[in-house]
Amino acid sequence: MAEFDVELFVIGGGSGGVRAARIAAGHGASVMIAEEYRMGGTCVIRGCVPKKLFVIGSHVRHELEDAAGFGWTIPAARFDWPTLVANKDKEIARLEAAYTANVEKSGARIVKARALFLDPHKLKLSNGETVRAKYVLIATGGAPNHGAAIPGIEHVISSNEAFHLKELPKRILIQGGGYIALEFAGIFAGYGSDVTVVYRGDNILRGFDDDVRTHVRTEMEKLGITILTGCTVASVDKHGEGFTSHLSNGSSIASDQVMFAIGRHPNVANLGLEKAGVAINPHNGGISVDHLSRSSVPHIYAIGDVTHRLNLTPVAIREGHAFADTVFGKRTVEVDHANIPTAVFSQPEVGTVGLTEAAARAQFASVDIYKTSFRPIKATMSGRDTRVLMKLVVDGATDRVLGCHIVGDAAAETIQAVAIAVKMKATKKDFDATMALHPTAAEELVTMRTPTARHVREAAAE
Ligand SMILES: Cc1cc2nc3c(=O)[nH]c(=O)nc-3n(C[C@H](O)[C@H](O)[C@H](O)COP(=O)(O)OP(=O)(O)OC[C@H]3O[C@@H](n4cnc5c(N)ncnc54)[C@H](O)[C@@H]3O)c2cc1C
Repeated sequence: MAEFDVELFVIGGGSGGVRAARIAAGHGASVMIAEEYRMGGTCVIRGCVPKKLFVIGSHVRHELEDAAGFGWTIPAARFDWPTLVANKDKEIARLEAAYTANVEKSGARIVKARALFLDPHKLKLSNGETVRAKYVLIATGGAPNHGAAIPGIEHVISSNEAFHLKELPKRILIQGGGYIALEFAGIFAGYGSDVTVVYRGDNILRGFDDDVRTHVRTEMEKLGITILTGCTVASVDKHGEGFTSHLSNGSSIASDQVMFAIGRHPNVANLGLEKAGVAINPHNGGISVDHLSRSSVPHIYAIGDVTHRLNLTPVAIREGHAFADTVFGKRTVEVDHANIPTAVFSQPEVGTVGLTEAAARAQFASVDIYKTSFRPIKATMSGRDTRVLMKLVVDGATDRVLGCHIVGDAAAETIQAVAIAVKMKATKKDFDATMALHPTAAEELVTMRTPTARHVREAAAE
């Protein structure tokens, strides 16, 4: 060890880096972890957690509206954005402290500094230290990517800034059709902003099941959110406190904020990767890794968003844990990236696991679809015009459930449990054998008896 100052140096104190540092230290390794901003990383500081808190708060509007049908008379409600932001900041600071304490308790040393490679084993820290490490884990995450530098791009905010706005914008334009764009559209609309979503594709939520995409769009439009597809923001002008966004279709939209959520890029720049000899994956711009998260340099690993595989917190955590067990725990652990459940905390919420109908039909010769759309029980009394979507994608040959897609209240909570069944290769018969829980929306998942569509691919002619 004299050759090295530490056995493991982790770059990045986010979800993946923190887990890896703690587990490696628990296996007895000497660990140092560098974080240039705040411990906890994207998820805790400016991702999943503050986002979910904002979503929960914005739902209150709908609860208040729905209350009348149940007999409640509620005086006009007032909402205070600065209170929301301040209370969210308090909770995030508490979580940051908990992350810091847990890492310290594990025995790993935290350095609040930016780290970059000087050579494959040597790192330079922005506090002036240099460290020689036997192993290095790159867990630097990702950052918002605004795309092409259109005129006025300097006026555009990302999700990072959206968490710290001084006031609630009366009108906001959000460019993007992915989960972050739609979640913020629901958040701002819930608190009372007039929201316009601009997306270049023909429908939002690219990559999700087509029925989900259509359903979410219809429901968001019912909530008063304007969704413009097939166009982009070409330029943004600032005038006084407001902005005018000029769209590629020739129209323009006035707003008080313009936010882009059109993608995120892996944080690979200015890390000295070239000095370490670490290769970039030419297909996705992330660090190139093998099935054990090992980079092109045998003692350097990379996990989480910086590898641009599946950019989700639980994935980064699992990859960090697997790395630590493999390298320091004498136990090779590979992360299985199949059938990972995911949610969009839009309003309404999406929960999904496994294959979309299109993906299943491309891979399997026979695919059965079970689909239902219905008015949830709450809407019968609240009078709200809304519908839930439930869809199962089933392999017609083996009866195995290949995918499940839900849009509606508690879709994320529901899909977490369904994912266990899908991961265990449950069949439609297993679903049917499960007793319904009444009255719930989720009971539809075990009571859809007849396929709504059956797709059988003819064998190719010889
Ligand atoms: C708005 C938003 C909402 C999201 N919602 C969800 C969700 O609901 N569910 C979900 O599963 N995922 C969600 N995500 C994605 C999730 O946040 C990421 O997948 C997760 O944080 C990735 O963890 P990581 O460890 O790879 O990187 P990060 O958490 O990004 O951590 C990387 C850390 O490295 C630090 N760093 C970078 N370079 C250096 C350097 N050179 N030296 C020192 N430190 C450095 C950064 O400051 C950062 O703290 C969301 C993301 C965003 C932006």
